[in-house]
Amino acid sequence: MLAILHPDIALDSEAYRQTMHFLENLPGVSVRVHQVQGAKQRLTEVYLLGETKSLNKEDIEALPAVERAIRISDDYRILGRHKDDRRQSGFTYNDVTFDQSNLNIFAGLCAVDVPEHVEQMMQALEDNGQVCTRMGAYKPRTNPYSFQGHGKGCLPWVFEKAGKHGIKVIAMEITHESHIEEIDHCLEQLGRPTGVMLQVGTRNTQNFELLKAIGRQTTYPVLLKRGFGITLNESLNAAEYLASEGNANVIFCLRGMKTEAGQPHRNMVDFAHVPAVKRLTRMPVCVDPSHSVGSRERAPDGVLDVMHATAQGVIAGANMVLVDFHPKPEKALVDGPQALLMEELPAYLEDIQLCHDTWKKRQQIYRRLKESATE
Ligand code: PEP
Ligand code: MN
Repeated sequence: MLAILHPDIALDSEAYRQTMHFLENLPGVSVRVHQVQGAKQRLTEVYLLGETKSLNKEDIEALPAVERAIRISDDYRILGRHKDDRRQSGFTYNDVTFDQSNLNIFAGLCAVDVPEHVEQMMQALEDNGQVCTRMGAYKPRTNPYSFQGHGKGCLPWVFEKAGKHGIKVIAMEITHESHIEEIDHCLEQLGRPTGVMLQVGTRNTQNFELLKAIGRQTTYPVLLKRGFGITLNESLNAAEYLASEGNANVIFCLRGMKTEAGQPHRNMVDFAHVPAVKRLTRMPVCVDPSHSVGSRERAPDGVLDVMHATAQGVIAGANMVLVDFHPKPEKALVDGPQALLMEELPAYLEDIQLCHDTWKKRQQIYRRLKESATE
């Protein structure tokens, strides 16, 4: 059971004290308080766990601090959608809003290499009105002898350049909990010129200790990649680990599944799961066409497979695109062959906008159908 308290309720009020006293003394029930900071108000949610079957929803709703109660299923308690659950999705971080109806594009370098390339990338983003990017500093590599990323050494100049070009959010993968501190320390020292979204890569989707460490902080939102060889349910549970530790500002990223059946693509493109994730959970959904497709192959229609895959995700309602670009792919230290080129950025953004608008129009068709059926 979930009790949603009145918005902006004071934690030192008599109503809150009485309500918590009642809930904390329910036999066999443990209580977990979760704060949600929305754009306009702060919501307090109280999760009742354990022996909750016999609890009466009306009794909980009669408590002075409770606005309404929701009976929640065991799956994805915090991030999931439950019956009669009208809770909103999404969050705002560093002036950028992420939810299940809007769209943000994170074009950038798979891996940070030299300042000149980061500069060119960010300049192109600024010229095209973009405020988000991706920049890999800590790279999880299959081969221990491959370039592992510049690590904390590159953070100061990457963050400074981001600030200079008006970048608000950088998606940056971390592979160890100590990286949170490294990022936070560096941003703090620089006066927070930009923001970071902590990315959990597909190799770490079920690294539960890493998830718990990231979930314990709420300064940075999280981009969680789907595990490449596990079920969707298992990956969504991994997201719930973050929320259960206290951080529900999570975006779920589809990036393809590892199977021979995906060939000639690097992974089996799984963007048909965009609407499924939106139905099962309240998380905004990201697609990563670069790591799904993994090449610059082009169809006879002249459009790159990466662009087609992006379109498939966005037209199905994706809320974020994470995509590799590089000014000189032949010089890239990681994933050069799948990178899009700077001169392709404006057309790519136009294509994405077209698909996002089309998604909105598609919804209208089915809304009309529903209306005419109920007339
Ligand atoms: C990446 O986004 O740089 C990356 C390594 O992706 P994935 O974890 O999906 O392989
Ligand atoms: Mn990569």
